[in-house]
Amino acid sequence: MTVYLDHNATTPLLPEAKAAMARALDALGNPSSVHASGRAARARVEAARESVARLVGARARDVIFTSGATEAIGLAVAAMASASQVQRFLVSAVEHDAVRASVEATGLPVEVLPVDGDGRLSPDTLVAALRRAEGPVGVAIMAANNETGVWPIDPAMVAERAREHGALVLCDAVQAAGKEPVSIASLGTPDFVALSAHKLGGPAGIGALIVRPGTRLAPVQRGGGQEQSRRAGTENVIGIVGFGAAAEAAPARFAAANLPKLQARLEAGITERTPDAVIAGGEAPRLATTTCIAQSGKSAEVQLIGLDLKGIEVSAGAACSSGKVRRSHVLSAMGFAPEAADAALRISLGWPSQDTDVDQFLKAWEDLWPRAGTRRSSLAAVRH
Ligand code: PLP
Repeated sequence: MTVYLDHNATTPLLPEAKAAMARALDALGNPSSVHASGRAARARVEAARESVARLVGARARDVIFTSGATEAIGLAVAAMASASQVQRFLVSAVEHDAVRASVEATGLPVEVLPVDGDGRLSPDTLVAALRRAEGPVGVAIMAANNETGVWPIDPAMVAERAREHGALVLCDAVQAAGKEPVSIASLGTPDFVALSAHKLGGPAGIGALIVRPGTRLAPVQRGGGQEQSRRAGTENVIGIVGFGAAAEAAPARFAAANLPKLQARLEAGITERTPDAVIAGGEAPRLATTTCIAQSGKSAEVQLIGLDLKGIEVSAGAACSSGKVRRSHVLSAMGFAPEAADAALRISLGWPSQDTDVDQFLKAWEDLWPRAGTRRSSLAAVRH
């Protein structure tokens, strides 16, 4: 039996989403068509838009469906860069590649704001960078980090400070939304918020960009007038329906799993068996879904394979894209030594996670690190 502990990569479809999508599979109609089937498809899309908006306390008309958070982030960054709305980007050192690559692709100067050993960005660093910046600025700082679960900084404070300096703000709320109470207001009403369905129990390949009323957004994908002419192309109705159903069900489902309790058991079990394991960002405000363990000794790949052979599915520090494990820029930014970053594992919990998953993981962990406790224990060994 497989124990799936890689929910930050993707979490299983919620039954509510699956049922809604199954119904939508048999329904006909392009939401842009005028006839009854088209109008019914439009109604399904708009109902889902209401649900996604409700999840984060936004207005439905401010929700733009995209093919996922990567596209949503790209759209927001392109909008900021267009018509010289911003002339420079400030991004945290722990942003997802979707943000890093998008800001780089604009060709505008990018200042990377450092984080401390817990993955936290100091408000003073942000304010100093905002003060230093010449010309209009775009700020991209995520809500919670996908590798460590750490909230780098209070997003509401980022939005407030940025606004004082006339900057535009993008908040990648992908890993927090649906799992923890997150609303547009609690994020400080940033100009752009990116969401992804498959991280909260909806299908992959659908996401949303939520745009603050009054913020300009030039389309990247042009064609028909879909999504208020902000993102052309026939809507992915089945994906959108699944996203809507997941948005409705996720908060209760994640809350019912009592993840803080599972996470505490998991982490206590790990530190008991491997006392020199350091939980990245362990002292910082952090998602209950995410535990990233850094310790030197075995490469992440060796551990992943060892665990996989026992039916335990986790991921290396950085969720590997295209099957390759790369050194985590997040752990490097937090000051972890290369040997520790290369050995880091991410264990992530989701709405279906249970005590038995933690039990089986800990049993496999014991097999993987049989001489635990006899090795030289030190935090220093995993830090630069
Ligand atoms: N941002 C964060 C923090 C993520 O974890 C991910 C997915 O791994 C993305 C953005 C990209 O989301 P999507 O898979 O919907 O493109």
